[in-house]
Amino acid sequence: MKTSSSNPYHVNVFDVSQRIGEDREKHLEFPAPHRLGEGVASVLEGTTIVMDVRLEGLHDGILVSAEVETTAEAECVRCLDQVMVPVEVEFQELFAYSATEELEFFVHDNHVDCEQLVRDAVVLELPFQPLCDEDCLGLDPETGDKLMEPRSNDSPYIDPRWAALEALASDDTTTASKPAAKKRK
Ligand SMILES: [Zn+2]
Repeated sequence: MKTSSSNPYHVNVFDVSQRIGEDREKHLEFPAPHRLGEGVASVLEGTTIVMDVRLEGLHDGILVSAEVETTAEAECVRCLDQVMVPVEVEFQELFAYSATEELEFFVHDNHVDCEQLVRDAVVLELPFQPLCDEDCLGLDPETGDKLMEPRSNDSPYIDPRWAALEALASDDTTTASKPAAKKRK
């Protein structure tokens, strides 16, 4: 049995390899060797990645089911505060014993490499528009400070549509006697 590489995403499957019906559960915890994600949110290098992996020996390969937990770092799109975003994803993939089968993933030297699967699942889960809070008010356009309460306006703003409705309503009151005129045909 060869020693597995130092890549933490590599999971040793020796126990279940070529053993149909055999299964094992493994708990992995390691610092991310590379950053995951290139957008406004990403899992930075060194962030702890926790993986609970289940390996099942099947006839043509090893079924790998995993739950992955980590934390992404992002900047709130409104106020630019740093936000920590918990990320929880799952994946399931069949790793074939031999490269001749029509599968994308293969068992190499008694291990499976989960890096691409983890990366794809995590990146898909990262927010495009991270917010520190759903109700984040953003920055004050004048001072650049983070707003803690809605900006107070100098004069109460009246929506022009409401103004029009109000005009109609006052028309009604002044012409309340009009319906009588409708009786004429
Ligand atoms: Zn914010």
